[in-house]
Amino acid sequence: MAVILDGKSLAAAIRNEIREEAACLPRKPGLAAIMVGDDPASRLYVNNKEKDCAACGFYSRRFDLPGSVSEEELLGIIGKLNANAAVDGVLVQLPLPASISERRIVEAIAPEKDVDAFHPLSVGRMVYGKAPVWPCTPSGIAAMLDAYQIPIDGKICVMVGRSDIVGKPMGLLLLRRNGTVIYCHRHTRDLAAMTRQADILIVAAGHPGLITPDMVKTGAAVIDVAMNRDPATGAFTGDVCFDSVKEKASYITPVPGGVGPMTRAMLMRNVLTLAKLHMGLAEPGDIEY
Ligand code: ADP
Repeated sequence: MAVILDGKSLAAAIRNEIREEAACLPRKPGLAAIMVGDDPASRLYVNNKEKDCAACGFYSRRFDLPGSVSEEELLGIIGKLNANAAVDGVLVQLPLPASISERRIVEAIAPEKDVDAFHPLSVGRMVYGKAPVWPCTPSGIAAMLDAYQIPIDGKICVMVGRSDIVGKPMGLLLLRRNGTVIYCHRHTRDLAAMTRQADILIVAAGHPGLITPDMVKTGAAVIDVAMNRDPATGAFTGDVCFDSVKEKASYITPVPGGVGPMTRAMLMRNVLTLAKLHMGLAEPGDIEY
């Protein structure tokens, strides 16, 4: 029977630490979140970001733009936020409408305010050098592994999914932490043969029921990133068959209540980190994941 990794409680404890640290700074850390269109999932995420900012004592600004907004208008708002000294982090909720180039928008955010770490300069820093902030889901997973003293160094880490937001940076982070990393994706021929090797198995494919117990090594740590909404019940499920896999794994995340709250907490931590850099209270090289 696996230990259930309690992301919800851990995230609450991290948020408390962040609030205490933020209260000692000369000004409030600030986050600006831009949302385009009215996707319900995006709205929920942006609402939560606003709530989390309030809980951490941060300044927050929110822009709700219609789906018809032009790329130029959006670039204009980002330009203003880049120049606004009260704003430490700028994020644009993805996905954007097809009429807008996500790459162009992400690259318009000033790298020093790139709180999601999606800008190519941030990605380059993750690969080569010191990155002050990492994307929130990978750093949330690393924080959870650390909190439960699950070592990464020397372990076989299998990442199922290679998205720009989750899979790719997660693999990079595990590599930086001396894991031996295997990336699996749609073209992987024998997924089970790969996942069975994993000491740490991280799954972000968006396929409910993808990971069955026969695909998991006894004693593995299993991290389920997915949030699949059951259209019939509205309930969320992950990609891992939780009830059966928990009998075989030594650690497992629940969905919801595992990776999701950690992701939210790491966004707040990233805002705090950028704020400290902007206030001259930290050097970029001081902070490394
Ligand atoms: P997210 O944003 O949660 O990471 P995406 O939908 O952007 O999710 O990416 C899904 C990833 O999962 C892709 O990299 C894809 O190759 C991978 N994937 C999807 N289905 C499978 C599958 N059956 N086996 C292995 N990998 C898969």
